[in-house]
Formats: sequence, structure tokens, C-alpha cells
Amino acid sequence: MDGYATHEVLNQPGALHDIDLFSSDRPLTEAVAAFGAGWAAPHLAATGASAGSARVQHLARQANRHLPELRTHDRFGHRADVVEFHPAYHELMGLVFGQATHSFAWTHQQPGAHVARAALSYLWNQGENGVCCPMGMTHASIAALRHDAAQLAEWGPRINRAAYDPAVAAPQAKRGLTVGMAMTEKQGGSDLRATITTAAPATARRGTGAEYRLTGHKWFFSVPMSDLFLTLAQTESGLSCFLAPGWLPDGTRNRLKLQRLKDKCGNKSNASSEVEFHGLHATLLGEEGRGIRTIIEMAHLTRLDFAVGSSGLMRQAVSQAVHHTTRRRAFQRSLVDLPIMRAVVADLAIESEAHLWMSMRLAWALDRSAADPAEALLSRICTPVAKYWSCKRAPAVVAEALECHGGNGFIADHLMERLYREAPLNGIWEGTGNVICLDVLRSMAREPETVGAFLDEVGQARGAHPRLDAYAADLAHRLRDPAGLEPVARQVVERMALALQASLLLRHAPAAVSDAFCSTRLDGDWGHAFGALPRGVETGAIVERAGVGMAA
Ligand SMILES: Cc1cc2nc3c(=O)[nH]c(=O)nc-3n(C[C@H](O)[C@H](O)[C@H](O)COP(=O)(O)OP(=O)(O)OC[C@H]3O[C@@H](n4cnc5c(N)ncnc54)[C@H](O)[C@@H]3O)c2cc1C
Repeated sequence: MDGYATHEVLNQPGALHDIDLFSSDRPLTEAVAAFGAGWAAPHLAATGASAGSARVQHLARQANRHLPELRTHDRFGHRADVVEFHPAYHELMGLVFGQATHSFAWTHQQPGAHVARAALSYLWNQGENGVCCPMGMTHASIAALRHDAAQLAEWGPRINRAAYDPAVAAPQAKRGLTVGMAMTEKQGGSDLRATITTAAPATARRGTGAEYRLTGHKWFFSVPMSDLFLTLAQTESGLSCFLAPGWLPDGTRNRLKLQRLKDKCGNKSNASSEVEFHGLHATLLGEEGRGIRTIIEMAHLTRLDFAVGSSGLMRQAVSQAVHHTTRRRAFQRSLVDLPIMRAVVADLAIESEAHLWMSMRLAWALDRSAADPAEALLSRICTPVAKYWSCKRAPAVVAEALECHGGNGFIADHLMERLYREAPLNGIWEGTGNVICLDVLRSMAREPETVGAFLDEVGQARGAHPRLDAYAADLAHRLRDPAGLEPVARQVVERMALALQASLLLRHAPAAVSDAFCSTRLDGDWGHAFGALPRGVETGAIVERAGVGMAA
């Protein structure tokens, strides 16, 4: 008896923690090896053990309970514009940045470096999502800085240091840096050309690196304590991209005023603010009037990171579901041995593995883009495909996995509750679903060769499954003329994602998983809810493969 006079605590599975999230994840270790990043396994295993530790789960719970607070003024009445965090958040940031999750792809020159970094992100998206926003933006900022060799040389090495420094100081004085991105204004986030913040030259110098002063606002500014941030403002030549420090070299706050913090549905440990710029000191990055072109390269990386992140969320949800249903008993059997429950968990596992392979394949395409034009085309067209589909599926997967836990899953003590509130977010920032689908169509229209690169990739599995052959042929027909696809853009992009996932599973996953995927997702015998599988699916083998929780 553990302290109750009335009853014993029975049949409660306990927490799934203190596991190496990398080594215990068979599909992930296989994907990392298949896409050229096996050399990073020791670092991934160390990070997997950290992100999967009881300590990180404790810190994540604390950081999401004790939320960031905005302090606009100090006690003497001066503007301060700082955000104060619980120590748990700083500890988490120290771990994620200390493990080079933001910089691994830039500091390792080997092929597979982007795959390894994507795997790091996948692991941390199972640890705590609130640190993944600054981690992902800091990683991606290097792509935008490449528009200016001098600014890249100045900041790149500092950004890439494997360190987090919470000090309130100018970036020049800090051990490690975080980078944010403030684009969205009140009147429009998707339509960035509607930006009304203005930038005026501060000196006679023009061109990238020139000093400007910015006046206006941003409606969303996550990570307001970031040491540097990228932002957009209108110049005489149009919308332009700027790099601004959070603090000036003399240690004073750059000319910005934090208005308030957003009270968010999820992602609560991370601060997201509203901000006004009052003559913000900033330098032009890239050409005047080409701001979207400059920042879009950063967005390409953050979009991949959200596909990876949503895949990580799904993996964590499935791991929790396998763990719980394996240990919880009802009607004299483990839940997972009840045929309907086994079908639900297997279906979730199929879904999760499909997203993993898609996101890692696109990280591999990114890795090889510089050397192989076909890989660059694939990355261009399929990164938004993956962003759309993985972000769309994550909330559905998490909701079903939550239900596998019965009432416990809905209670705020449980990790599932946090995943549930987190899951829709990746579909919103860095481009909502519609905007992302339109981006896919735009790629096809501007670079018709992207369609061929996509179909060639899907065709790598030609002959492996009749359903995929028929599905790919139909898709090739639909994509013959991208003009006029806008009203059916979601249908087309969804089909592209499913064809890509099927092709990858047929080439890389066991037949139990790939056959089940093709016979359900490719116009197959499948219901609208998870678990509505046809007869004959090898659910036992699929659940066995998915489960870190299976080894009791
Ligand atoms: C927690 C959180 C943190 C954020 N942090 C940041 C940040 O740090 N920096 C930053 O810049 N932004 C940030 N954002 C903002 C986010 O990027 C925007 O909310 C997003 O881009 C959508 O813009 P919007 O909110 O203005 O919606 P809108 O652009 O008004 O879109 C509303 C709806 O209309 C649809 N829509 C828009 N255009 C079209 C079209 N052409 N065709 C069809 N449908 C369309 C969209 O898909 C969407 O469903 C954050 C958002 C959240 C929720």
C-alpha cells in the first residue's frame, strides 16, 4: 500500500522517460543511416538520451507552468523591455543550444550534416517544443545571412557556437546567440507585401550592410529576447530585409518597445510578443526592395524544420500511446492486445513513420542541393509539400494518441495534453496550409522542372506496389498543367505527399508498414478515423517496430 487507506494504485503504466530517443527509435536510426548521417550516431544518441530524460520532462513541465513574464520598466521607471523566464526554460535552452541543435549542419561539412541536424530537431521536438522555435530560427538565419558576406563573417561564427547565454547584453559581448524573425504585422501575415513598417537610411551609404532606422510595429515577434533578429520594412525601393540587434553595443536596448506577450494556446514556455519599433537600429541584408527573396531562404529552412518538428511530435505521441496501451490492462488483456486498439496504434505508427521518412529525405535533398540540381529541385518543391502535410496530420495523430490514454491523456500533468495544445501551431507559422499549397503551385509554374524531379523521386519505387504505380500515373496526369490548380491545390499537394511517402516506405521500411500504407492511403480501403484498417494488416509487427514502450 502506498499511503492510501482505501485502495492500492493499480494498473497505472507510469511515465515513459529516461530513454534514449534516438537509439530506441528503429525507423529514425534507419533513416539517419540511409540518408548519409550514420557518422553522427554518437552525438544523436547523447542528444536522444538528454531529450528523453526524466530531467527534461520535469523542466518542460516547469517551464510550461511558470510562464515568461514581460517587464516593460525597471523599478526606477526606465524602459526595460525584457522578458523574464523560469530557470527551467534557461536550463532547457542551455541543453538544446549546448548540443548544437541549431548549428550542427553548418559546423559539420560532411554529407548528411543536414540530416543529422534534422534528427537533432526531431529529438528535441519530443523533449520540449518551446525551445525549438528559437533553435530552428537560429539555425535558419545563416541562410539569410549568406546574402551579405561581411555580415555572415561577423555573425555566423558567433551564431554557430554551441552555447546559450541568457545575459541581457549586446550580442558582441555574449558567449552564444539566439536569432529571431519578426515579419507578421496586424494587417497581414501571409501577405507580407502589405507591410507598413518603414525604414529610413541613417547614413549616405547604400546597399547591403548599410544602416537604417525602422519605425512601425510587428504583431508577432517570438523570442523577443533574441540577440539578433531579421525583420522586414518598406524602403523607397520596396520591401526590404533587415538585421537588428536586440541590444546596442553600448548595452542599451535597441529602439523597440515590447507591448505585451501573447497568451497562447500552446508553446507556452516560449515568449511571443507584440512590438513597436521607434527608430530601431538595423542594417540592410541583401538588396533593397528584395526583402522577401532574402528572407525566403531562411523560411525554406524553417519550413523544413516544422515538417521535421511535426514528425517529432507525432513520434512522441505514438511512443506514449504504445507505452500506455502495452502496460494498461482492461478486460484481462493489455489494451494493445485488444484488436481494435491494436489497429488504432498500428495506424498511428504507420502515419508517424511515413512523416519521418519524408522529412529526413528532404533534409538529405537539402544536403545534396549544392552538388546536384535534381536534389535542389526536389527540395524546392517538396519542402512545402512536407510542411503542409506533416503539419496537417500532427493534430489528428496527437488527438487519437491522446484518446489511447483514456482520461489520463486529457489531464494537464500528462505530456499528451501539452502535445495536443502544441500540435496545430506548426501549421500556422511560417505559412498556413493554404499559403504553403500555393507555394507548391508557384514552384511548379516558375520552375516546371520541379515536377519532373518530384515524379522521378516517386518513380524510384516503380513496380514495388501496384497501388503506387496507378496513383503516381494519375498524379502525373493531374500535374501536367499546373495552371488552374488553385481550387484543388490542397488535394494535389496531399496526393503529392502521399505518393512521396509511399515511395519512400516501399524503398526503406519493412513490407508490413509499406503495404499497409499503400493499401490504405493510396485510394484504399480505409476509414476516416485512425484504426479503420482493412483486414490483413500486420498490426502486431507494425506496433512492435514503433514501440520504445514495448520492452516492458
Ligand atoms: C504562436 C505564434 C508565434 C508566432 N511567431 C511569429 C514570429 O516570431 N514572427 C513572425 O513574423 N510571425 C510569427 N507568427 C505569425 C504567423 O507567422 C502568422 O500568424 C501566419 O503567417 C499567418 O498570418 P496571419 O495571422 O496574418 O493570418 P492571415 O494571413 O490573415 O491568414 C488567415 C487565413 O487566411 C488564409 N489565407 C491567406 N492568404 C490566402 C490566400 N492567398 N489564399 C487562400 N487563403 C489565404 C490563411 O491560410 C489563413 O488560414 C506567429 C504566430 C503564432 C500563432
